[in-house]
Amino acid sequence: MTKPLAGKAALVTGASRGLGRAIAIALGEAGASVAVNFAGSAALAAETAERVRAAGANAIVVQGDVAQPAEAERLVQETVAAFGAIDILVNNAGVNRDTLALRLSEADWDAVVDTNLKGAFFCAKAALRTMIRRRSGRIINISSVVGLMGNAGQANYAAAKAGMIGLTKALAREVGSRGITVNAIAPGFIDVGMTEALSEQQRAAALEQIPLGRFGTANDVAALVVYLAGDAAGYLTGVTIPVDGGLAM
Ligand code: NAP
Repeated sequence: MTKPLAGKAALVTGASRGLGRAIAIALGEAGASVAVNFAGSAALAAETAERVRAAGANAIVVQGDVAQPAEAERLVQETVAAFGAIDILVNNAGVNRDTLALRLSEADWDAVVDTNLKGAFFCAKAALRTMIRRRSGRIINISSVVGLMGNAGQANYAAAKAGMIGLTKALAREVGSRGITVNAIAPGFIDVGMTEALSEQQRAAALEQIPLGRFGTANDVAALVVYLAGDAAGYLTGVTIPVDGGLAM
């Protein structure tokens, strides 16, 4: 049976671990060739690429800081050089530096906005140059329910994630006529990555707010990425879809 993303090439930022790793593997299982980006975790990124290959797909590893425009540009160039094109960009790379607003330093504001929001913009800008020429492409931005709801102690992160939702809509309007869709996913509490830092007390408080009564899995998010990257999602653009067990409704 033909895999739904056979012949497609994807770049997943921040794919060394957590959600990005699960997304890279799911795209590979769906048949896409995958460029696995990381910032510092080379060994973990190599392991992700190995798991993509084990799923029967091509994979390369591309180091680079998405918050640096020249590096974002190079990530896209390396993807195109390896696979001949970039059809799918998943802007997943993200960091948090949580503290109450009155204690939030400019450095922690900048670190979070630069990686999450500017990084997504720089990578999208680089990818769009080639997608526009080919009149086809999919950009999927990993935002957060925190961008929809806000969260005490996350002013920097909430602003960056809400910014990604505005970026998604603006780009969707700009490039819709070129056959390119731009959508966002707003995960809630997922049982990998950033949530590992939560205390038992914080986990219990979070669970009380989730109608489905559990944290999501990385695959709950990855499955939606695969759907948005595929032909069945061709008429969706500019939307932000929560994957949050009902948390943000
Ligand atoms: P994570 O485990 O902390 O992984 C973050 C990833 O981003 C790593 O691969 C890291 O690479 C990469 N990264 C960080 N800064 C980078 C930079 N400047 N350039 C390139 N890559 C960079 O995080 P996660 O929980 O999987 O989260 C992934 C995304 O989902 C983030 O955007 C996050 O905001 C979003 N999200 C997560 C949750 C959740 O519950 N986990 C919920 C909502 C939204 P290195 O390993 O090389 O540092």
